Amino acid sequence: MSEKEAALAAVPSDSPTIFDRIINKEIPANVVFEDDKVLAFRDISPQAPTHILIIPKVKDGLTGLSKAEERHCEILGQLLYTAKVVAKQEGLEDGFRIVINDGPKACQSVYHIHVHLIGGRQMNWPPG
Ligand code: ADP
Repeated sequence: MSEKEAALAAVPSDSPTIFDRIINKEIPANVVFEDDKVLAFRDISPQAPTHILIIPKVKDGLTGLSKAEERHCEILGQLLYTAKVVAKQEGLEDGFRIVINDGPKACQSVYHIHVHLIGGRQMNWPPG
C-alpha cells in the first residue's frame, strides 16, 4: 500500500494510535529527544537523510492541527521549538523543512498530531 493509499484508508478519529504505543514504550522507536511534554523519534520510512517526528506525549484531542483550540497554544509552540532544537542537534545548519499533514487530502495517516522535521538534502517547492 502506498503512503497515499494508507493515508486515504486512515479514518480520522481520536482513538489511540501507534504513537501512543511508542510513548508507552510498548514498541521501539529511535528517540532523539524527550522531555516531560514531547517526544521526537526517527520516522520509520524516512523521506530524507534526516526525518524526525515530534509529537506531544498527551494528545488532548489534537488528532491534527485542525482540531487545535486555544488551550493547545503552549504545546503547539513546544512542538515547533523542539523541531528547532532537534534540527540543531542533527546539524541541519543549511536548512530544514517542517511539515504538518492535516486530514486525508494532506495524506495524514496517523491521527495524533505530529511535526515532521525533514532535512539533509535539497528540498523542492511546491511539495507534491
Ligand atoms: P504520511 O503517512 O502520509 O506521511 P502522516 O503525516 O500522518 O502521513 O505521517 C505519519 C508518519 O508516521 C509517516 O511518515 C510514517 O512513516 C510514520 N510512522 C508510522 N509508524 C511509525 C513507527 N512505528 N515509527 C516511526 N514512524 C512511524
